Amino acid sequence: MSSPDSIQIRGWCPSTWRPMQAQDGWIVRVRPHCASLTAAQWLVLAKLAQTHAAPQIELTRLGNVQLRGVHESALPALRSELIASGLAPADEQADLAPAVHCTPFYATGDRSHALAQALSAAAVRYLSPLALRKQSAGALPGKFGMLVDDPERRLRSMSSDLHLWAAHDGSYGLALGQADECYYFESDEHAVQAAIQVARWFARERMTSAARPAARLHHLLKSRTPNAPALGAARHYAIWANEGAGPLRPGTPNPQGLLIGAPLGRVDAPAMQKLAAGLPAHSEIRVTPWKSLLVLHEESPAPVPLRHASQWITRPTDMRLRVSACTGAPGCPQAHIPAQSMALQIADWLLADQHLHISGCAKLCALPADATHIVFAGTDASGQVWLNTGPAGPQQRPLPATRYRASSSDLHDIQQQLHDPHL
Ligand code: SF4
Repeated sequence: MSSPDSIQIRGWCPSTWRPMQAQDGWIVRVRPHCASLTAAQWLVLAKLAQTHAAPQIELTRLGNVQLRGVHESALPALRSELIASGLAPADEQADLAPAVHCTPFYATGDRSHALAQALSAAAVRYLSPLALRKQSAGALPGKFGMLVDDPERRLRSMSSDLHLWAAHDGSYGLALGQADECYYFESDEHAVQAAIQVARWFARERMTSAARPAARLHHLLKSRTPNAPALGAARHYAIWANEGAGPLRPGTPNPQGLLIGAPLGRVDAPAMQKLAAGLPAHSEIRVTPWKSLLVLHEESPAPVPLRHASQWITRPTDMRLRVSACTGAPGCPQAHIPAQSMALQIADWLLADQHLHISGCAKLCALPADATHIVFAGTDASGQVWLNTGPAGPQQRPLPATRYRASSSDLHDIQQQLHDPHL
């Protein structure tokens, strides 16, 4: 029987210029600038999904969007259309520069927005692979990321190498990795300068370790102190108050717009087409880092044209928020089970504090960090498919397995195991 031993952890993230091959085709990722896409751009994405990929737009953790199942022959045309519509940079180096994720809860032109724009421009200018090579440094690891938040700090718990935020008192904060310390600067210019210096130091320093180069900044910070002169001009706090307002779930009242989710974090392309077509072309639909969307109110709150209602999640109590799944059958040739439909069927049976991820095989693609339980399919020597059920996280022992019968009794078995106190 297959086991989670075969899980492949990739050291980089896909982009438009550097798509990633998955079992079900190529993944092409778009990184919305300052978390924002216009309705017109969403229309383009919906069309491309239906033309060149699986007819869904996947929302990723940290607020990217991606098309999945792209055939290799379609990659050049897809890239050209993404560039033409402003969804991807025409410059490959800009696309390969580290990602800057941004809170969606900013007002255009406010301090958080200005900080994110300044950091994004600096990342392209100083931290692209080519820019670093000119400074005799290697490229940053593909998973290196920076994040910009507003004074509410709702992204406080997100994993990122550098956290920057506009603080309530008018200063700008910078925290390195997951460290319990932070620096406060008088201007966004100084905060950005310090962030770039730390990132450059990391790019150089990680290559000097005898062992494998550190993949994340916090790995290196355990043993080394960053050489970044701009940090010297900041107020330094050794203990970073562990606070933050936390995520907002779909349907949560919000003065800036309507928060909506999509089942399993996958937006149905025709449903998006209907939504975007019903809005002015320039209106913004922002991505959140929690796999949901923020449809901005323009001048005044107005009803959002949510047709295809079953394709959207508009209540924070929607049971479908308790499940996730990989592509599964029939989309992925590796899959032994229809993971997505099974996840949606079992969602109603889960407890409020549970999050179940169902995977079509032991690779556990797209396993979310907040999953509490997993079910993955494997086969034995006779070809019989088994469902392995257990808590998420590192496995100390083989998970209990039940025969897969492609019937509702499978769901009943899973439900019983999830509620087993000895699991
Ligand atoms: S985990 Fe799912 S998507 Fe990934 S290879 Fe297995 S079946 Fe395919």
